[in-house]
Amino acid sequence: MSDLAEAIEAISRTKPQRVVVFTGAGVSAESGIPTFRGAGGLWRNYRAEDLATPEAFARDPFLVWQWYEWRRGLIRDAQPNAAHRAVARLPNAVVVTQNVDGLHARGGATNIIELHGNIFRLRCVREGTEHDAFDAFESLPPRCKCGALFRPGVVWFGEMLPAGALERAAEEIRNADLLLVIGTSGVVQPAASLVALCGGTSIEINPQTSALSSSCTYAIAASAAEATPPLVDAILEATNA
Ligand code: NAD
Repeated sequence: MSDLAEAIEAISRTKPQRVVVFTGAGVSAESGIPTFRGAGGLWRNYRAEDLATPEAFARDPFLVWQWYEWRRGLIRDAQPNAAHRAVARLPNAVVVTQNVDGLHARGGATNIIELHGNIFRLRCVREGTEHDAFDAFESLPPRCKCGALFRPGVVWFGEMLPAGALERAAEEIRNADLLLVIGTSGVVQPAASLVALCGGTSIEINPQTSALSSSCTYAIAASAAEATPPLVDAILEATNA
């Protein structure tokens, strides 16, 4: 039996009621958004770790904003893929995402915990106020009315997660009887450590072996858009949702 068939069989047998979906950059790869560690992860030869830090922003906010504006454009032009849309068909699932692209919401999911913020949110570095901004900026770096710089409303390497987000995600995963782990390398902490909290069945979808593969009950070597829809069908069928 293939890994996918075994996972579907386990879903039919266990009839999971509390489903959590934990996602990383790989769930959006088939929407055309590069992951940080895969092909297309470099921008002008910079690695994400060289740009997504408070130190890089303090040194050169214009450069960091140029990179974000490029990513914001890619994401604006992208569409949710079959994996985002399948996840949104699960009526009671909680989506815990490391992604900042907002594609789960655009795909129709409603119960989403964004661990790393959202690339279409701005935060004033002086006042700490947050504002939504989807469209391209007329000039960079964008500034608040108070004159101070805006920064992207995302969590950078070395920063704390938004207050309460990690705790809420941990609670949901602890109580889950099924955890789908989709498209994450499992190396960015503390998010990656959440997977170990699941006492129920865990199913990974990732074409590559990740740092989490060996700790999941099933590891399906397939892309998110291929393997997520049949798993969602199996969950809906098993629970008559
Ligand atoms: P990562 O770049 O470290 O790893 C991506 C993982 O996705 C890899 O294991 C890769 O094998 C897998 N993958 C690639 N294509 C896939 C596909 N089609 N289907 C399923 N899996 C696929 O990403 P990460 O673990 O999320 O950690 C990087 C950090 O950077 C996170 O905070 C992440 O949210 C952020 N990031 C976000 C975006 C986004 O919002 N779209 C994009 C890049 C990075």
